[in-house]
Parts: sequence; C-alpha cells; structure tokens
Amino acid sequence: MSLNVDAWTKPDQGALFIVTGASGTGKTTLVKRALSTIPNIQFSVSATTRKIREGEIDGRDYHFLDIPEFERRKDAGELLEWAQVYKNFYGTLKAPVIEALNAGESILLEIDQQGAAQVKAQMPQAISIFILPPTMASLESRLRGRNTDSDEIIARRLKEAQDQIDHCGSFDYLVINDDLESASDQFMSILVAELLKSNRRNSWVQQFVPNKE
Ligand code: ADP
Ligand code: 5GP
Repeated sequence: MSLNVDAWTKPDQGALFIVTGASGTGKTTLVKRALSTIPNIQFSVSATTRKIREGEIDGRDYHFLDIPEFERRKDAGELLEWAQVYKNFYGTLKAPVIEALNAGESILLEIDQQGAAQVKAQMPQAISIFILPPTMASLESRLRGRNTDSDEIIARRLKEAQDQIDHCGSFDYLVINDDLESASDQFMSILVAELLKSNRRNSWVQQFVPNKE
C-alpha cells in the first residue's frame, strides 16, 4: 500500500494520539515513519531522568533531566502525566501539548500505560493505540538487536513488558508489529482516519452545507 497524505488531513481541532507498547515492540520505528508521512502531527518530546543512549539527541528524543529538576517540574504542576518505568522517571510537559492542540496541530505521545491512563482520564477524547509484538520471543530478539541495553536490563524489560501488555484491552486500537510495512500502513491508517472525522471538520461542513435559514 502506498499511502499518499496531503495537507487536507489537517483538522480544525488537533487530535491527541497516545502510542503505548512494551519496550522493543517498534513504537519509535512506527512513529518516525508516520511523522515523516503525515503532516501537522508533532511528536511530544518527553522529559526523562534515564541516561542518554547512543544516537539520541537532547531536546529531540527526550529532554534529559536530573532527578531534582524532574521533581521540581512535577511538583510545579508542569507535567500532563508522569510515570516511573524501571528506575527512571518519564513525563509529558503539559504546556507545549495544550498550545499545539489549540493551534490545530495534532500531537503524538509515546508513553507507557500508566501515563496513557492518566491522559485518558483527563482528556477522554485522546486516541490510544497499543503496539503489540507478534510473540514474546520476537520481542526479546528485537531488544537484543537494538544493542543498547545490558542483559540485566533486557531481562527486567521483558518482565515489565508483560505488565504493559496486560492493559492492552483498554486501548482504542491494537496494532501487531510483525511485518513492519503492514504494521506501518495499519498505524498510519488509524491516524489519518481519526484526522478526517467529521467532528474535527466543522470548516468543511460550513463550506459545503448551505445555510438554510
Ligand atoms: P520501541 O520504541 O517500542 O522500544 P523500537 O522502535 O526502538 O522499539 O524497535 C526495537 C527494535 O526492533 C529496533 O532495532 C527496530 O529496528 C526493530 N524493529 C521494529 N519493528 C520491527 C519489525 N516489524 N520487524 C523486525 N524488527 C523491528
Ligand atoms: P525508553 O527508555 O525505551 O525510551 O522508554 C521506556 C518506556 O518509557 C517506554 O514504554 C515509553 O513509552 C515510556 N515513556 C517515554 N516517555 C514517556 C512519558 O513521557 N511518559 C510516560 N508515562 N512514559 C513514557
């Protein structure tokens, strides 16, 4: 499938997408492809206290903060949601999300299930998508293939993976990332369909439906 997407997918009201899945299921891979194909969706750069990985850039992949600075922002109410994953803290800065949505930009959050539940409770209109691996064995080999984590961390991530997956039934959409091309088409189809919903399209309704007063 070749998905051609043009600027007509920009809605009047921006959509808030939540993408969740166990570490190593391919969230970042799917998100990067979608953002390079679909215009007017911004990736929300999270704050984290975890160590920067090779290839990551501060401010692009995450805002890398120390624990006191993360706690200061949390206590000041600057976070839309936050969670502790493994030994690290992660959180979404509230202000850029609200500003972008109000400007008609859509936002994509790549967050864990604890954060997803907090966002859904505050903003029920958010669209949640859970990415599943085809099997737990394939998840392990992808984590090893990424070559960024020690054996100890991989073992812990696999244990935590099941805790994330346990919550997949409460998400709006499920995508199995087996064949990357298929999963990517399915993932982008969800985003595009949501952007085209009539309740985000008041300007089209007004343009095409004559006022009968
Ligand atoms: P996450 O963001 O969920 O932690 P990544 O996107 O970093 O996962 O993917 C983990 C690893 O799996 C990466 O090396 C990536 O290239 C690989 N990967 C992603 N999707 C697939 C797929 N469908 N088939 C095989 N490998 C994949
Ligand atoms: P990683 O360290 O592999 O980049 O991410 C580990 C986990 O933290 C992933 O499940 C990811 O979705 C989650 N995560 C990343 N940013 C946030 C965030 O801002 N909030 C929450 N709740 N989880 C996050």
